Amino acid sequence: MSVSDNFLEAFMKKTILLFLLLGYAFLLTACEFTPIEPGSSNGGRQLENTATDNTDDTESTDTNSTDVDASIDTDNVDIADVNDLDKVLDQVDSSDREPLPTSSDNTTGYHDLLSPIDPTQLGLTPEMIMENQGLLPLLEHLITVQYNYTYGEIGYVEEADSIYVLSNKLNHLPADYVPNDLVEPDIPFYFSEALEKKKLRSEAAIHMEELFAAASEAGFNLLGASGYRSYATQKGIYDNNVANRGLVATDKVSARPGHSEHQTGLALDVTLESLGYRLVSTLGEMDEGLWLKENAHQYGFIIRYPKEDTSITGYSYEPWHLRYIGQEVATFIYTHELTVEELYVYIESLIEKNTGL
Ligand SMILES: [Zn+2]
Repeated sequence: MSVSDNFLEAFMKKTILLFLLLGYAFLLTACEFTPIEPGSSNGGRQLENTATDNTDDTESTDTNSTDVDASIDTDNVDIADVNDLDKVLDQVDSSDREPLPTSSDNTTGYHDLLSPIDPTQLGLTPEMIMENQGLLPLLEHLITVQYNYTYGEIGYVEEADSIYVLSNKLNHLPADYVPNDLVEPDIPFYFSEALEKKKLRSEAAIHMEELFAAASEAGFNLLGASGYRSYATQKGIYDNNVANRGLVATDKVSARPGHSEHQTGLALDVTLESLGYRLVSTLGEMDEGLWLKENAHQYGFIIRYPKEDTSITGYSYEPWHLRYIGQEVATFIYTHELTVEELYVYIESLIEKNTGL
């Protein structure tokens, strides 16, 4: 799809959004909602059906990650097929991006981590979305920005500054994207050096300070481990791993540059002194991890990679990885036990039904 096509589509969506927001009640009654089925002809947004048993991968990945370097967490796992990735990158201006490694033996099996998302099976109704005023900014974002939800294709995020930005295995940030409002939150870290990974975007930093204060009030001494990570840093980690381990092993523990949520400046990994400052899944069973799971949404954060949803996110369980997405959306995701991917696919299904786009 050309840039002009994308622009035209975005413009059309924007126009139709006005009708959606002004007359959604009418639309809901006039059109009987039947969210699109996975694999339907107008889909192209669902993840293709794949195997799901990833228990062994999850455990080994977790161990690998923490043994190698506590600062490299397992959200670095990547399932993208380099051949498909190259194909997609060829279709857009790639002058600002480094070519990714290619390999004929890219048989990591990470395709198998992803399951399809069926928007009709999420326990959501159109009214839950359309009548929740707090979700309107997200709705507008998803009408304006086109994300990719189909395995085998890689989407390119053009508007990375939104707090709703989706950076995952199927959507990557520009190589030169650096948030322009990075600050160092006033929270304790497990190290004292002034490193880039102490930083978060300003809005996320403010709310992270509130979260840390509330945790402290509850008797929990959280420690920051890793926040913002530049494209260059991620590329260095990835390339170093490729050199030492090979591509296949690397794709199990290290995100490809552009695909790490840490590049958004909205994510922070937290750890504890009692864990030796490591990023380990046992945090999820500890009082601190349980507190985070039940309270993070009040400050606008979600546990981005839940234990039950590794086949949806494609990432191992990471009770330490907090993602800022705003209090309203975080609370909705918490209340309905969703992942970002599931919520976005559901809203996309509503948009497609109403706009035909
Ligand atoms: Zn993380």
